[in-house]
Amino acid sequence: MTHNDELFARAQTAMPGGVNSPVRAFGSVGGTPRFFVSARGPYVTDADGREYVDLVASWGPAILGHAHPEVVAAVQDAAARGLSFGASTPAETELAEQITSRVGAVERVRLVSTGTEATMTAVRLARGFTGRDLVVKFSGHYHGHSDGLLAQAGSGLATLALPGSAGVPEAVAAQTVVIPYNDPDALAEVFAQHPGRIAAVITEAAAANMGVVSPHRGFNALLARTCHDNGALLILDEVLTGFRLGAAGLWGLQVAAGEVYSPDLFTFGKVVGGGLPVAAVAGRAEVMEMLAPLGPVYQAGTLSGNPVAVAAGLATLRLADAAVYARLDRAADELSTAVEDALAREGVAHVIQRAGNLFSVFWGEDVAAGVSDYETAVRQESFRYRAFFHAMLDAGVSLPPSAFEAWFLTAAHDDAALERIIAALPTAARAAAA
Ligand code: PLP
Repeated sequence: MTHNDELFARAQTAMPGGVNSPVRAFGSVGGTPRFFVSARGPYVTDADGREYVDLVASWGPAILGHAHPEVVAAVQDAAARGLSFGASTPAETELAEQITSRVGAVERVRLVSTGTEATMTAVRLARGFTGRDLVVKFSGHYHGHSDGLLAQAGSGLATLALPGSAGVPEAVAAQTVVIPYNDPDALAEVFAQHPGRIAAVITEAAAANMGVVSPHRGFNALLARTCHDNGALLILDEVLTGFRLGAAGLWGLQVAAGEVYSPDLFTFGKVVGGGLPVAAVAGRAEVMEMLAPLGPVYQAGTLSGNPVAVAAGLATLRLADAAVYARLDRAADELSTAVEDALAREGVAHVIQRAGNLFSVFWGEDVAAGVSDYETAVRQESFRYRAFFHAMLDAGVSLPPSAFEAWFLTAAHDDAALERIIAALPTAARAAAA
């Protein structure tokens, strides 16, 4: 029995499934989850002292690599000055200004602690602003675990083959209308069916919680236009993509590519906290100023804008310059090409899909022509990923423990780290082929 095995057995007697977030339990890939004790740059080390090249990056936040010395120093400095005041601090305004200066469509920011809170607040704001109740979401998109947003919510649920969650009252679920992604007809139809009742459409900027599925060119702009024409708001969820795909997230990349549109609200998380709990709801002033204390939409948090967490986010954003994004893009090019080659050599039917520096592999003939919605994503042969995942883990590479998750690189993935991953690919590809 390894130390990891012992720790997992003990954890299961203290915590449901031995974890504090379901996908960590290795449910879909099987085996014993690794318990990590330290991390630095592109590497994580488990309780048995084994080092892995990490392709999870804390599910996104660790864009600079783990324990970046300047981020750690900023956190230590903030911690030494006090862990939490429950009052305003100068650094909160600086972080909000970092966001408004990077994302042109954002005029006001409210800091919260998790992406779940950010999307929950965005939905409440949209309802308060429009005086309407219905929210439209896309199947396979994940926006955190608030009751109304859990319907057909992608990775965690797909991993467990659940359509939604028990414990969500029917009356609450009925306020969310789920439609297929990348389907302009379904969008037109939902607005035709519910005239004057839709408060908001919420979408991941690019879907990355059912594997990576980009919006078709022009689709996000179509959402913005349709919402505007029908008196609804567009909430662009950039919790995962924001400040990871580029300085202004996927929205920034799309605008630079000529797809000009303005979401009414954005949600951010992950990178914006640099590995500590910070997230944000942000958007145009007219909508954001509906929030208390200015307006009637209530939202609050004991630890919102926590000074230690804000220090981590601020240090991370200050360091996330053009060179960092260029490095991430290069690493994603190199790694996705190597995976493509290894799988092709073994004749494994697959498709690799990218959104900027994020990518994932869909497995099997049924999906090899490309995936643009959840209905297709769930037809992939996840069992191939299980074999691939464990072969990589045995070779010292820690991949996301589900075929429905994106692979996360960091700017610390240097040539040595990439070479270690690439060296493991032939054996893993063979395992996937079997
Ligand atoms: N929105 C998106 C697009 C996400 O990927 C996630 C988490 O993965 C969330 C919201 C929820 O964020 P959190 O886990 O911080 O609550």
